Amino acid sequence: MRKDEYCSFCWRNKKEVLLLVEGKDGYICDKCIGEAEKILEAEISRRAKMKPRKEILKPAEIREHLDQYVIGQDKAKKVLSVAVYNHYKRVMVKENMQVGDVEIEKSNILLVGETGTGKTLLARTIARILDVPFCIADATVITEAGYVGEDVETVLTRLLQAANYDVEAAEKGIVYLDEVDKISRKGGDNPSITRDVSGEGVQQALLKLLEGSAVYVPPQGGRKHPEQSMVLVNTQNILFICGGAFDGISKIIEKRLDTQPMGFKGSHLNEVSHDKTNYLQYITPSDLKKFGLIPELIGRMPVIAHLDPLDKATLRAILTEPRNALVKQYQKLMEYEGIELIFDEDVIDYLADQAMELKLGARGLRSIIESIMLDAMYELPSRPDIKQYRIDKAMVVSKLRDFSMSHLKVAS
Ligand code: ADP
Repeated sequence: MRKDEYCSFCWRNKKEVLLLVEGKDGYICDKCIGEAEKILEAEISRRAKMKPRKEILKPAEIREHLDQYVIGQDKAKKVLSVAVYNHYKRVMVKENMQVGDVEIEKSNILLVGETGTGKTLLARTIARILDVPFCIADATVITEAGYVGEDVETVLTRLLQAANYDVEAAEKGIVYLDEVDKISRKGGDNPSITRDVSGEGVQQALLKLLEGSAVYVPPQGGRKHPEQSMVLVNTQNILFICGGAFDGISKIIEKRLDTQPMGFKGSHLNEVSHDKTNYLQYITPSDLKKFGLIPELIGRMPVIAHLDPLDKATLRAILTEPRNALVKQYQKLMEYEGIELIFDEDVIDYLADQAMELKLGARGLRSIIESIMLDAMYELPSRPDIKQYRIDKAMVVSKLRDFSMSHLKVAS
């Protein structure tokens, strides 16, 4: 060993370390490389936090991004784009607010629409566009303190996790709270409510989160207990997008519209006709109250958007058009195997028909396409001789026969 073979940073000699890397005028040991890496990471994250804040996208720009992933749902996209823009504008303005300025109130959003119509997809896409932490929580697992289930604060545990426990980032995140319709209180008008533990208590608990307050969150989730150290999270700037199918609400809306005086007797206003195939578009807070949401909670979700049921043309487009459309995903997977995957036109049509029957919105498409692709996905990777694979209707019909036996019956 040469006398001068020691780390130029910590002066350990070669025998004391695992590795000495030689530079032009000295050496560095493995331990110092590790330390340097930590210093570098800390600096990178410090600079990332200091990055000048990105301009908020304008509503039309948000909408343009949504169009790349979500088919149809024009009204919901527009309402969401405006609401999300206003929300983040409010957050920015608030940070520079002077005493006496008008304070803009927080507006959470309620998405009402059948299952599989794109509620979660819209919320998730918005969060991705804005590059903010995002989580999905299920309102049905939340219970009042004292019952078996999760405390309402655990909704924020997932957001903290999505933000890598960076509380400041989580406090500007988005929570998609699914199935809020299932925590309705038992009401006279709504026969579909089955919840036995009073939903009202859970709604009260949710209010606290939605209206904006500082809450103690168990960082690992579960029930709060004295030994667990809590993280304080302020929900003032967290955007809650709530979603639900509100099964049966169309009847409530229909009834209201039928009994509502539309104008003077005999005047043409009386003849205003409603689109009877899609009553959700006429939803108002009073319908939500009738359904069983408490007025305080409705008040905390001033932006209500409805999603349209998916017709066949939309389901067809969902298969092929979005940036990450199912058909494109399978084609990409096969491309990695060196195989060109071709779906015949009438196959796409047939798949959309089958999904209509399943009545699970676009959710049905995924399970259908997975069932027809399973054999191919299993066999093709071992067939380097195949360069092109065509999915034709006859093949799909035969593969779906078994699938239909087990699924379509359940759905109908
Ligand atoms: P919901 O939350 O309304 O029950 P999701 O957003 O979870 O429905 O939709 C389920 C899946 O169906 C999504 O992952 C997406 O692939 C697809 N999907 C649903 N609606 C649309 C839509 N309007 N445009 C594109 N894809 C959709």
